[in-house]
Amino acid sequence: MYFLSLVINAPARITGGPVDYVNPLVGTLSSFELSTGNLYPDISLPWGMNSWSPQTGKNGDGWMYTYTTHKLRGLKQTHQPSPWINDYGAFSLMPTADRPQADEEKRASWFSHFGEEARPYYYKVYLADYNATAELTPTMRCALFRFTYQKGREAYLTVDAYDKGSYIKIIPEERKIVGYSSRNSGGVPKNFRNYFVMQFDRPFTYLAAADGTALEDNKTSVEGNHALAVVGFGQTGGAVTVRVGSSFISAEQAEVNLSRELGSRTFDDVMQAGADEWNRWLGRIEVDNNHLDHTRTFYSCLYRALLFPRSFFEEDAQGHLVHYSPFKGTVEQGRLYTDFGVWDVFRALFPLLHLVYPEMGAQVQEGFANMYRESGFLPEWASPGHRNCMVGNNSASVVADAYLAGLRGYDANLLWEAVIHGANAVHPQVKSTGRLGFDHYNRLGYVPCDAGINESAARTLEYAYDDWCIYQFGRALGRSESELAPYRQHAMNYRHLFDRETGLMRGRRQDGSFQTPYNPLKWGDVFTEGNGWHYSWSVFHDPEGLIRLMGGRDVFNRMLDSLFVQSPDFDESYYRAVIHEIREMQVMNFGQYAHGNQPAQHIIYLYNWSGQPWKTQYWVREVMDRLYRATPDGYCGDEDNGQTSAWYVFSALGFYPVCPASGEYALGAPYFDNVRIHLPGGKHVNIEAKGQSGRYRYVNSIKLNGKNYDKNYIRRSDLQHGLNLRFDMSDQPNIRRGTAPKSAPYSFSNAD
Ligand code: CA
Repeated sequence: MYFLSLVINAPARITGGPVDYVNPLVGTLSSFELSTGNLYPDISLPWGMNSWSPQTGKNGDGWMYTYTTHKLRGLKQTHQPSPWINDYGAFSLMPTADRPQADEEKRASWFSHFGEEARPYYYKVYLADYNATAELTPTMRCALFRFTYQKGREAYLTVDAYDKGSYIKIIPEERKIVGYSSRNSGGVPKNFRNYFVMQFDRPFTYLAAADGTALEDNKTSVEGNHALAVVGFGQTGGAVTVRVGSSFISAEQAEVNLSRELGSRTFDDVMQAGADEWNRWLGRIEVDNNHLDHTRTFYSCLYRALLFPRSFFEEDAQGHLVHYSPFKGTVEQGRLYTDFGVWDVFRALFPLLHLVYPEMGAQVQEGFANMYRESGFLPEWASPGHRNCMVGNNSASVVADAYLAGLRGYDANLLWEAVIHGANAVHPQVKSTGRLGFDHYNRLGYVPCDAGINESAARTLEYAYDDWCIYQFGRALGRSESELAPYRQHAMNYRHLFDRETGLMRGRRQDGSFQTPYNPLKWGDVFTEGNGWHYSWSVFHDPEGLIRLMGGRDVFNRMLDSLFVQSPDFDESYYRAVIHEIREMQVMNFGQYAHGNQPAQHIIYLYNWSGQPWKTQYWVREVMDRLYRATPDGYCGDEDNGQTSAWYVFSALGFYPVCPASGEYALGAPYFDNVRIHLPGGKHVNIEAKGQSGRYRYVNSIKLNGKNYDKNYIRRSDLQHGLNLRFDMSDQPNIRRGTAPKSAPYSFSNAD
């Protein structure tokens, strides 16, 4: 007989806090054709500099982890904000057994989701081919790995620094590996490198390195296209601990980060600290768990909303905050944040940050100011430098919303200079930064569709909103009326694209005539990842003005209604293929309403302006019940750096920032019986909606601090002071509540 002693491992992590509800695998069952989030399990701290993910896809594949695959080829440090933008500075670690393995296909091991545990602060996987487990737990810039090998089998670890320029050096006398990865997807200067250091707790019994996959035994150093190394630990089995740090600044700074963040801390200490950190930030919003599925979805969404913007700064040996400038290639003072597309995240992610996490929001504004200092522009798509993607000049919305939310401690006057500059210039290389077509726009009041500028109507509508943001920001800063006048006027530029014949927004030529032919179901062309039906509602700052253009509330409501019941027909000819966003609209059974992409995400809330708030309540519930789940296929399209999650978080609270910077949130209906928001400064927001359910989805009445409340919005200032909001829910719409014009939220046409 032959016995092995049984080691009883700690049970699945139970912290007792909200992080226990988070499922990092949500959104990972995605493909090029159809996105259910296009996410990887992001194992990191909130706003961490580095994310870590198991890797099932080939090196460089944007779909780095796909739920339906069976083999895992590494554990990867990643900075990827989206598969469409891809990664930079990635490298991976992979334990193997029996023989050294370089090739990423050959070293891959079978694994199962039953042998996997994914927490935001911890990841563990059983690698079946090697009878080994891999665990990792992250800090802001480092991670602690624990690889547990079978006794009697030769244990190895492959370190893959990726191709397109990398370096690895093995230092056996120090039980250390150092190196760098310089692979990137653009948006960096030539000297870009991610320097890493790995400190092992065991000596190496074997070492080899390769440029590519042809390992050379005892080779300690390789610098070339694709640096790769394998180290061995013999047959004694058991756990090998590896402390991994990195830096975008230097190899020395990687050591500083490693010693500061990991030092000699144990795996369990780091894991506990990570869980505490997540609970601290997630715990700002408490929801009941009367419906466990909803609670899981809520915190899985809130987790996604706390990952980006990514911290891109480090603390040097003297304790100064510094960052590698992805614009200049130099080391600069202060904070920087990156990896977000403003076109997506200006809508709800930044407003969530500014309301619930204002101290973080202020630091991000410091980063915005540094981006302007170093590159001459604010970000529109950053990863890590400016990237040519999407449209709009919506950095103005982020800057204005931050300042009007009361965030301070950064150079707001410099940001004023930045938004004015960005409204009247375009980046010489990165055309989506600044305002493409600003000269046409300033002359005509719109970007014409026949001037060689694509997606001109989307640009016009967003620039008009951005001008309103600039106007509000300037007013708050006390800028002169003469400085503000052009922005106040241009805020109404959306009117130039309204076509009375179709009742929709439409492309317009330089001579003033409308684009012909016009198919409002055609995606792209003068619009961006949407059609005329989607984009016609992109008047965030003046829904009342839009209502008047359309011909009054009745027409407006009928137009809104028809969005949800029209068959999901489409014309994809602009893209020459059915892009996944189109397919997602087609398959969700929501008519033309395309919740899977950003242009639609505020539309449901517009009934608050047109006297039918119960339709907002109806549709918000439909979307929350039908289009969000805490499962691997849990999103109805790209998640997009927290934006689609922030929609759910706000909507679950019962309100949504249709117009960031207006200081008002349009009401929906809470998704929980009890919500508590703990704001900095000891202010608490209590939201009650006893008995809400799929059936009891309608708002009968609302009490604000005990008094009847007939508005269809809640003011930011009221939330910031702390309040009690009580919703009386009903299974029937109350068609008398919230119908008066004075109940409607902010519109520029009604403002002073
Ligand atoms: Ca999107």
